[in-house]
Amino acid sequence: MRVGVPKEIKNHEYRVGLTPASVSELTAAGHVVNVQTQAGMGIDFADEDYVTAGAVILPDATKVFAQSDMIVKVKEPQPGEIAMLESRHLLFTYLHLAADKPQAEGLMKSGATCIAYETVTSPSGALPLLKPMSEVAGRMSVQVGAHYLEKEQGGRGVLLGGVPGVAPARVAILGGGVAGVNAAQMAVGMRADVTIYDINNDRLAELDMFFSSQIKTAYASKAAIAAAVAKAHLVIGAVLVPGAAAPKLVTREMLKTMKRGSVLVDIAIDQGGCFETSHATTHDDPVFVEEGVIHYCVANMPGAVARTSAFALNNATLPFVLRLAKLGAEAAMQADPHLAAGLNVSDGKIRHKAVAEALDLPF
Ligand code: NAD
Repeated sequence: MRVGVPKEIKNHEYRVGLTPASVSELTAAGHVVNVQTQAGMGIDFADEDYVTAGAVILPDATKVFAQSDMIVKVKEPQPGEIAMLESRHLLFTYLHLAADKPQAEGLMKSGATCIAYETVTSPSGALPLLKPMSEVAGRMSVQVGAHYLEKEQGGRGVLLGGVPGVAPARVAILGGGVAGVNAAQMAVGMRADVTIYDINNDRLAELDMFFSSQIKTAYASKAAIAAAVAKAHLVIGAVLVPGAAAPKLVTREMLKTMKRGSVLVDIAIDQGGCFETSHATTHDDPVFVEEGVIHYCVANMPGAVARTSAFALNNATLPFVLRLAKLGAEAAMQADPHLAAGLNVSDGKIRHKAVAEALDLPF
């Protein structure tokens, strides 16, 4: 198959659909890989690295789309890219169509087969192509939290791990899923005093076994969260209710009980945020202050560590890319119902029930 990798054009997007190492795997399997010149430039993948991996470098996206059957990207296609899609194309990328009707209609009009990373499933019912980004955001949340706790950032002037003779900072993590566990691992590594709150008792038991005495766990009742917030230096919001907006677990009233210069990191902001006072921010202007408490609410945290994120995403997507390239979309999806769960659009129709319902379009 001819696989195309255009340069990402969304603002501040430096990741790339395929790393040179992934390209090597495809070319070794006999596929042609067309990479737009400078596609990986933002994270220091030179055109020469792609050539060494066996890719063909093309001067612009138009040629990549024209000369390829499958397009592998990171972010949802922008209007100019949708205009280049034809019914013969297979598009494999994050789409997040449920909140983006114009994009959905554009993809329907193109006739292309569009498989969304975020709805591909795993045998355990998890979302394997979302997981690496939750891992990145979870781990990052502690380093940004530590940064904004510093005095010159407006923070309380507290070191997460304390020092001998001075108690460590208290970190409350709301939601003990993928992002929450990764946050806890970093916070424990920095010797903070960590508690994870969740409403899933089985999950709390797993966390208790996994971390042993390194953390505390607590059922996420309103009272427990109110008590935690009042004494925490850093609160990390990492909850997810699949298919729904994040529940507002921390109210403005609770915020008023927090110490000045404490920090909230709302990882769940891409689902609306789990703090009443959150609103989405960008890497250009990541924080704001409410009730004396610093809020970090960047909706695409992994973009800040684009090189790590590109490798992590490729580790998860490559097995699917190789299967799609070998078998073609139809046979690959027939052989793997979890990949088939990723199908969002084909032949001008929405093929994913939840996406169709969210957009009020026929399924
Ligand atoms: P996950 O499904 O692995 O974990 C979510 C956890 O939240 C589960 O353990 C669940 O039991 C718990 N939970 C649900 N409702 C709760 C409640 N009321 N109180 C306490 N716990 C509750 O999800 P994840 O992969 O860790 O993702 C977490 C969030 O991070 C999602 O909203 C995801 O979209 C977001 N995310 C954001 C970024 C970013 O850049 N901002 C990047 C990646 C992921």
